[in-house]
Amino acid sequence: ALLLALSACGDNEREGSDSGSGSDKGFAKDSLIGVALPSKTSENWVLAGDLFTNGLKDAGFKSDVQYAGASTTVADQQAQITAMITKGAKVIVIGATDAAQLSTQVAAAKQAGIKVVAYDRLIKNTPDLDYYIAFDNFKVGQLQGQALLDGMKAKKPTGPYTIELFSGSPDDNNAGVFFNGAMDVLKPAIDKGEVIVGSGQTKVEQTATQGWKAENAQSRMDTLLTSTYGSGKTLDGVLSPNDTLARAIITSVKGAGKPIPVVTGQDSEVESVKSIMAGEQYSTINKDTRKLVAETIKMVQKLQAGEEPEINDTKSYDNGNKIVPSYLLAPIIVTKANAAQAYADDPKLGPLTK
Ligand code: BGC
Repeated sequence: ALLLALSACGDNEREGSDSGSGSDKGFAKDSLIGVALPSKTSENWVLAGDLFTNGLKDAGFKSDVQYAGASTTVADQQAQITAMITKGAKVIVIGATDAAQLSTQVAAAKQAGIKVVAYDRLIKNTPDLDYYIAFDNFKVGQLQGQALLDGMKAKKPTGPYTIELFSGSPDDNNAGVFFNGAMDVLKPAIDKGEVIVGSGQTKVEQTATQGWKAENAQSRMDTLLTSTYGSGKTLDGVLSPNDTLARAIITSVKGAGKPIPVVTGQDSEVESVKSIMAGEQYSTINKDTRKLVAETIKMVQKLQAGEEPEINDTKSYDNGNKIVPSYLLAPIIVTKANAAQAYADDPKLGPLTK
């Protein structure tokens, strides 16, 4: 233990343990770290790439940061991970394009002695994934569901309220977790008849948005507006899983000449924060990408030193083969009421709230 402590580097040390998967001898401080991100479906991914490139460099590592392309995303990402293994990466951080299509690559990494960290999105059906780091996705969904109820009540004190539900891309494990979190809050209100899903589409697969693409959410909303709301029925709220889709939903509603319902979101994208301040989109979620990347780099530093990274959840994320040791951060709900405070230390978003 003394030798371990002496050889350890970085701040915030904990006792090394010899039993965990991160507790071998570590690796050289200037090693290559691979970062495989999905296509740029939202601003957080763009930001993450830059933060990883700079942060890993500042920490003394070499980095290889790649994005999957816009169309052949799965094959792109598989090839990028394979190349990282060949180049001798010591850790590969992956934001999966498709949760269920990476087990071969993760197994190859394991075989080569590389640690694999799932970043933001879980990787399913593999015993070879080492760690998961993300914001608490179920909590994100609960906050969205609660914001939807709060926003509708603020506008119209008594129900019943008519809503529609949207979820993310089925190939992203987060999509189902966000939806389940939101339904954890909404279902009791639906069961009591206080909230009505106008279209009756309450199953996650009926509400899915393939590829997290704005045009897919917009066209589903267009269809709902003509079918369910064509005869003048009021739509009070829409559960939107993220900001990109929230703006697509609002565009659709505006195009149909209808009043904007309460619409939730996630990611604190610039255009959505502006929309919230303008009184259009109701809420978003602050998942500070700067924090998530910084924590991931801390994890890499622990692995470099041959120590166990910090884990704070060992029950929530079963990937079908194992419960993946996770480090989860707390998301924050943001509405117009707390935007200035929520983004006070964010040089990009803070000024938008003034
Ligand atoms: C992320 C969200 C993001 C979505 C689409 C999810 O996995 O957690 O923050 O909005 O992907 O890019």
